[in-house]
Amino acid sequence: MKQAISFSTGYNSSVTLNLDVPKTCIHCHKDVGFIAKSSTSYNSQTDESVAATFLCPSCEQYSVYEYIKVNTRYKTAELVNYSYTKNVTTNLPNNIEKVSADFVKIYNQSQTAEAYNLMDICGVAYRKAAEFLIKDYAIRKFPEDEETIKKDALGQIISKKLDAFPKIQNLAKATAWLGNDETHYVRKHTDKDLADLKAFLLAAATFIAADYDADEALNFINK
Ligand SMILES: [Zn+2]
Repeated sequence: MKQAISFSTGYNSSVTLNLDVPKTCIHCHKDVGFIAKSSTSYNSQTDESVAATFLCPSCEQYSVYEYIKVNTRYKTAELVNYSYTKNVTTNLPNNIEKVSADFVKIYNQSQTAEAYNLMDICGVAYRKAAEFLIKDYAIRKFPEDEETIKKDALGQIISKKLDAFPKIQNLAKATAWLGNDETHYVRKHTDKDLADLKAFLLAAATFIAADYDADEALNFINK
């Protein structure tokens, strides 16, 4: 929605710009007709951007928007898209998404929960990510057993299906133990914490991604 908003350009002079105003209030998340309340001044020599404050008619809270590339001739400027969510970057090994896209999705959500300090639930979330990674890896190795792998308890899959890959098996077991601690009332392994759970999970993901790459190399040289 466009609104005409004036910006002072000096003593007794101003410029009115025709600006895009966001529809949704950042506080109450309702689609509101914002009321423009005030604006910065604009000096074409020094100012690269302008800003205006708006009042939400629903929750009566203020928000501020910034505009760049002010063009006084065409009365335009470009809205800066402010993001109010934390930027969470994950560094998972390459190709792990080819083994388990769900793992990547859940791991990213777990990291977001952790970034927001939701410490009582992010451990449970990492535990869920681990289950998808390990089960999807087992399904990749034993596609004929897909249905039972999906249904069986994680511990069973780790002991029955990962025998041939002892390092991954150990990491998966350690991840599952610490992950279970995150979900239960009483913690069994008090000498380890979330950082250890994440370290074991990432190490397991790294081995699994490397195993995927090794399978790809084998397919290539067998061609
Ligand atoms: Zn509001």
